Amino acid sequence: MSALTRLKQQWNTQDGGLNAGAFDAQWLEKTIDIVNELYDEMGSLGTEFKAAVQGVKATERFNPALKATWAAYFVAFLVSTGPVDQRTGFANRVEYKNGAIEDYIDFIGTRFHEFIHAIQHDKHPITHAVPINQKSVAILLPTDYIRLKVLMELDAYSKEAWLMSKFYDAFEDEIDEADLPWKVKIYRTIEAQDPTRSDALNMAMFAGTLLRHKQTTQNGEKAAYMDDYHTSALDQYLISIQNWQHRTEQAQEPEACMLTREDIIALGDTFGPNVFTAGRQDELVALFLEPPVLSAENKHKLGAVYEMFGIESEEDAQPEPLAKILSAKGMTMDAFMADSKSGIPAQLDENGDYIRPNTRKLQP
Ligand SMILES: [Zn+2]
Repeated sequence: MSALTRLKQQWNTQDGGLNAGAFDAQWLEKTIDIVNELYDEMGSLGTEFKAAVQGVKATERFNPALKATWAAYFVAFLVSTGPVDQRTGFANRVEYKNGAIEDYIDFIGTRFHEFIHAIQHDKHPITHAVPINQKSVAILLPTDYIRLKVLMELDAYSKEAWLMSKFYDAFEDEIDEADLPWKVKIYRTIEAQDPTRSDALNMAMFAGTLLRHKQTTQNGEKAAYMDDYHTSALDQYLISIQNWQHRTEQAQEPEACMLTREDIIALGDTFGPNVFTAGRQDELVALFLEPPVLSAENKHKLGAVYEMFGIESEEDAQPEPLAKILSAKGMTMDAFMADSKSGIPAQLDENGDYIRPNTRKLQP
């Protein structure tokens, strides 16, 4: 029996599936084994992805308690309010929300996406210069942090669509094209327009489409697809600052860091073709350099962050590139990454849930 047939059967067993609502660790482990076999059956790209997945050594689990907007998460860092020497650094964990993985296609796409995030965080130091990382000696200022979050998502969504499209090509006899997620259908439409176009350019065009995409919110309003990511970045910022205020034992406040063009290029290079340069480094796709367009609510949150920092604008904080900050401290990028990754594992709150910034409400 083929691996794909076995994977389809996983969603029909009593142990798993959306309707049964009984995902468990054993079921997940078996599913992952089958998906890893499928990567090899996909051909060289699948094998390359599998090696990258195994290289990052991220853990995977279902978290039924995950209070999340999205079906799955790459949990990079965790916030703890415990003693300073026990506070966590790098969590390096992919979490799937119980019952949120609708079907096997959904799971494959989700796993591509979340492991692109895991690879970004394994390879690129700028992904560690973030407010939620309590070990970082440098942190991006809010607007650049939002930009980084958006760029990480565009990289993950476009590589997810690209990998899913290649996955479909490898198994098209066994998969109904109509079952592909809408994002993959958009990607395949772009791909079909010009067969001579590079994968990188197809992905850049897809990322541009997603960046401009609007969706209807719970209030029935139209908002940018990336709006939720702006909100989550700002929420993380606000809770992180609140946590810093408890870090009285910390000798040094983190330094203000800026996102550079080189950082963006390096982010695109963490796996596969570079979506941000699309093979044309000199003319880095201008779209990805633009500052985020924030909703009124998020502009208000950004104002709250400035207020907590005691700044009027980000220039007031005089941010520097990460490389410059580290070299002034006599620290290499590798040492910075190694230090950040050596955090103590996740702390749990009194309900046994992870302490995550977006599970808390900002104090009025
Ligand atoms: Zn993502």
